[in-house]
Parts: sequence; structure tokens; C-alpha cells
Amino acid sequence: MAVPQNKVTRSRRNMRRAHDALTGANPNECPSCGELKRPHHVCPSCGSYNDREVVAQADEIDLDDDAA
Ligand SMILES: [Zn+2]
Repeated sequence: MAVPQNKVTRSRRNMRRAHDALTGANPNECPSCGELKRPHHVCPSCGSYNDREVVAQADEIDLDDDAA
């Protein structure tokens, strides 16, 4: 098994981890429903993108409707 040749000091370990921090999300306000959404993504609450509905929402589909 490969074994590290030298001890990684607290200083060097922490210097390596200095770049590990996660950055927060940068949400935009949806122009059609006002909910916060990820930029360049379809709005998860109203299914719109570029002021146009691209994903039908579950509460808008009539599941009782018989297609026959
Ligand atoms: Zn929306």
C-alpha cells in the first residue's frame, strides 16, 4: 500500500483546504411568478423560461380526464 513519505503539517493541510469552500447559490427572481430560481434554468415553481411556459405543472394537468 502506498504510504505518504512525509507528514502533511497542519499549516500545509489548511493551505490546501483554503480553496475548498463552497460558494452560495445566486438565485434570480422569476419574471413570471416572482419565485427565486437558478439563473439560466427553468423555474421550478411555474415551469417558465424566457416568459414562456416550457414545463407543464402537475397541478395544471387534469389527471381525471379520460383520453378515450
Ligand atoms: Zn416562476
